[in-house]
Amino acid sequence: MTQAEHRPTNFIRQIIDEDLASGKHTTIATRFPPEPNGYLHIGHAKSICLNFGIARDYQGTCNLRFDDTNPVKEDVEYVESIQRDVQWLGFQWNGTVRYSSDYFDQLHAYAVELINKGLAYVDELTPEQIREYRGTLTQAGKNSPFRDRSVEENLTLFEKMKNGGFKEGEACLRAKIDMASSFMVMRDPVLYRIKFADHHQTGDKWCIYPMYDFTHCISDALEGITHSICTLEFQDNRRLYDWVLDNISIPCHPRQYEFSRLNLEYSIMSKRKLNLLVTEGIVEGWDDPRMPTISGLRRRGYTPEAVREFCHRIGVTKQDNTVEMSALESCIREDLNERAPRAMAVLDPLRVVLENMPEDHFEEISIINHPNKPEMGSRLVPFSREIFIDRADFREEANKQYKRLVMGKEVRLRHAYIIKAERVEKDAEGNITTLYCSVDRDTLGKDPADGRKVKGVIHWVSAAHALEAEVRLYDRLFAVANPGAADDFLSTINPQSLRIIGHAKLEPSLRDAKPEFVYQFEREGYFCADSKLSSADKPVFNLTVALRDTWVG
Ligand code: ATP
Ligand code: MG
Repeated sequence: MTQAEHRPTNFIRQIIDEDLASGKHTTIATRFPPEPNGYLHIGHAKSICLNFGIARDYQGTCNLRFDDTNPVKEDVEYVESIQRDVQWLGFQWNGTVRYSSDYFDQLHAYAVELINKGLAYVDELTPEQIREYRGTLTQAGKNSPFRDRSVEENLTLFEKMKNGGFKEGEACLRAKIDMASSFMVMRDPVLYRIKFADHHQTGDKWCIYPMYDFTHCISDALEGITHSICTLEFQDNRRLYDWVLDNISIPCHPRQYEFSRLNLEYSIMSKRKLNLLVTEGIVEGWDDPRMPTISGLRRRGYTPEAVREFCHRIGVTKQDNTVEMSALESCIREDLNERAPRAMAVLDPLRVVLENMPEDHFEEISIINHPNKPEMGSRLVPFSREIFIDRADFREEANKQYKRLVMGKEVRLRHAYIIKAERVEKDAEGNITTLYCSVDRDTLGKDPADGRKVKGVIHWVSAAHALEAEVRLYDRLFAVANPGAADDFLSTINPQSLRIIGHAKLEPSLRDAKPEFVYQFEREGYFCADSKLSSADKPVFNLTVALRDTWVG
């Protein structure tokens, strides 16, 4: 278990502690309420860890409720992916999945109750006029001419709305609160609007749909939620949350608490904008390994433990802030350093012939899978007269800082022999095509007998046995730290966010790599087989994260 499982403390947990101590509550009920209009991102993971983590630590419950009041933007694909992502993160909701649309009948009845109390009216201003009448932050709004309709007239018109007697935008139901309120949300907010759209859960039963602010508080109350936790942009909406619950006959009144949302550098946390990356074809889908979505991180090789640890480290406060990408990357790096078996892969292969090896030489070298975890066992790696090393690991000339292979000098092949560079063969353009070396056969797993010191170690793969693979190297998806602030965030895409290496040479044991299971390619970074693109015929590996934080931004 990583540190994420340590019980965190934050202002919301302090409130819960007080509520339990005072006897206000004896059990704690939270919920995670995504709108199924996109895939979950790392910001949602923060909210999931908070809500489900509280339920776990207080032996309470956490519901998964789809806030599905806008059928036009929603889809079952999202409903399904969200459930998958929550479970992958390691959480299980209380009972069955819930939907705000489960409560459409009750919500309708509460709307009728508000009309009967003279607290809601059918407005026939156009959406544009409604905006105009609302006023501004510095200027009070003005009442709609339809505001003082009788209860009977409102009941009839609301029924007409429900029965499809109005076109979209011709009428809506509004709460009658205060057009001069300093809180814009309290200026007679719309409670119901007309949408002739089929709903993924309720089909064509309704052509009126309740608004978020009306739906959310009632759904919370119907489920007996004790602490309704949301992000800071809903701070003002708390007035409306309380107003609705205070004015309908419902026995439960959950309390809303707000925390600051996660912002991540070089990234975007808005489903709407992430959707645009998908529909514009800038990425290969919601689960593209460059996406900050949970499914993208997963495909990239992130583990649920690392994501939870990240959420633990960033904590929960009311201060707006932006977290550095390196904070997320160090969580996955630390986790994988422990968990990932080591393997050898040559990304930019240079053919090396070991001239003093017999033509038919073949042996299998036993190599440990993890330097400090003998329990992870070992594997046999073939070694032969022709191998590949990385082009960057050889130079014809170099100064002392260069600790790899130099012409006329020696280097150790990782887990194998010491070799010496003797001569090169070049093509017409002067590129090295083959490097010829000699090998000291008496150095397998031991230092040279004559005491000479060989410092450098490079990795290698036997040429005849190598598994050829495509390797995908990822960089930040955006070239600027705060792409969300740009007028056109699509113009801030990093054109080098994906680099494809077509013909990497991998040690043959990687043939059995399971998708999303991460290996450390020694001296290169952490990589996993791609869950969608990789096949036996054409293995494809994704870079999860580099070995070190090499970003110089
Ligand atoms: P987006 O702008 O990405 O669509 P949203 O808030 O509209 O986000 P919802 O599906 O409504 O998305 O979010 C479900 C829950 O996740 C809400 O309680 C919301 O406050 C929380 N949440 C969304 N984004 C973040 C974030 N960046 N950090 C923390 N919590 C978040
Ligand atoms: Mg939303």
